[in-house]
Amino acid sequence: MNERDIWSMVLERLEKVHGFSAITVSLWFDSMAMEKLTPDAAYFSTDNDLKKNIIESKYAPIIKEDLKEILGFDVDVVVISTEKAAFSQQFEEAERRRQSKKLEETVEKLDAKQVKTDDGESYAEADGCGFMDSAAKRSSNVFISPSLPDYSPTYTFDNFVVGNSNSLAYKMALAVAERPAVVANPLFLHGLPGLGKTHLLYAITRKIALDHPEFSIIYTKGEDFTNELVEALANKTPILFREKYRNADVLLIDDIQFIAGKESIQEEFFHTYEALFEAGKQIIVTSDRPPKDIKTLADRLRSRFEHGIIADIQPPDLELRAAIFKRKARDLDMNVPNDVIMYLAENITDNIRQIEGALKKIRALAFLDGTDITMEHAKIAVNDILTAKANAISPEKVISYVSQVYDIPFEDIVGKRRTDSVAFARQVAIYILRELTDLSTITIGKVFNRDYSTIISSSEKIKRLRESDPAFEAKLDDMMKDVKSLMY
Ligand code: ADP
Ligand code: MG
Repeated sequence: MNERDIWSMVLERLEKVHGFSAITVSLWFDSMAMEKLTPDAAYFSTDNDLKKNIIESKYAPIIKEDLKEILGFDVDVVVISTEKAAFSQQFEEAERRRQSKKLEETVEKLDAKQVKTDDGESYAEADGCGFMDSAAKRSSNVFISPSLPDYSPTYTFDNFVVGNSNSLAYKMALAVAERPAVVANPLFLHGLPGLGKTHLLYAITRKIALDHPEFSIIYTKGEDFTNELVEALANKTPILFREKYRNADVLLIDDIQFIAGKESIQEEFFHTYEALFEAGKQIIVTSDRPPKDIKTLADRLRSRFEHGIIADIQPPDLELRAAIFKRKARDLDMNVPNDVIMYLAENITDNIRQIEGALKKIRALAFLDGTDITMEHAKIAVNDILTAKANAISPEKVISYVSQVYDIPFEDIVGKRRTDSVAFARQVAIYILRELTDLSTITIGKVFNRDYSTIISSSEKIKRLRESDPAFEAKLDDMMKDVKSLMY
């Protein structure tokens, strides 16, 4: 049986099993051929780009299913268009891309690997948000806000590497987890993105859930708290919302800065806070900056936070970075030479999330080369990460953020409407892009469908307003910090 035979069997199934008409089959598949079959992929050619796209999105899943039927094993279906270059010229690149994508997926799966619980049972954590193993989930009443970061394996105290820059935060988090509502209430953790705040919150949640199965624990993010409340108000169910939050024994709110500047949300949070605090419940919040620097935070909230314990996390020093690289390499079962560890620790400096990213990239590169990990791999990975960082703030992200803040649709911000509120949101977005990126006024102009002189005058206008209006300046500062932290 060769590729041709297999392909004709697939074509037959398309008509007979799936009931495609002869016309459909001839329209899409007459010019398609199965070029190559490997142990895990089937490569097809077709004669133009449009067909390729449609086949890929619409028919590839069906073909994949048929191939599994025919071959008895799973293969990836890859379609290559020969409109601009011959199949043979494109095959190797396509194969390389497929391999590296596959590897990344495998790595992701490995990360969601089995967790052992104390009683020796193990539970699969395949849902990608498994910071709680099933035992913890089962044994207590834990509400987890819907949007957990998707990179989370198990975040525990055990796998948090402690150094000078984070030891205070670590100790306070552990103390609170061991003795909720006794040692530090509220606990306010702050630090720049990627330095371990969420990790510590998960670790606290997990420990309390295991130690106190009877506790109701709520973990949420400032943003989700806001959305949930807005929804509750729209559905006229604020009572349910209140009941849920005010019955918590432990309330953890991640990235609280997102509720700043939003009056009604802060008001609601304040009452929740008071109710819980008076009832002797533990409250833990995190933010990318200390309370005094969240300019649009209501004063009474700020003073509540300041009455508790505030612990900061500073960027890791070289020693801690090296220790984290070592630890993560071990967790990922990678054998990384010491000089490579040192090179990485010297170059990847400001965000611990990048440390994991770098290691995974290196592992993928070494895998593709079929060699051990070398300095060459490390250099490529570092370079990729530093470039990715420089491009992290994109116009789309800034515009959608501004659109949320001012409640103006994305399309209007880049569109023609000139009403005051739309124009203002547009000018703010333009200003932020000019401040935070290296994009030229011409490039920014294209995004907003305007010429470069409009871009300049818009951002000048916001700049003047900023200089003359301290309240606006505070709001703009908060917004720019949000944008920066959203990019990680
Ligand atoms: P933040 O919430 O402050 O933005 P995260 O808690 O999401 O940061 O941390 C980003 C990544 O870095 C996570 O994968 C986390 O496990 C990892 N990380 C941060 N600090 C440490 C640490 N001290 N030891 C081990 N991993 C860490
Ligand atoms: Mg976080």
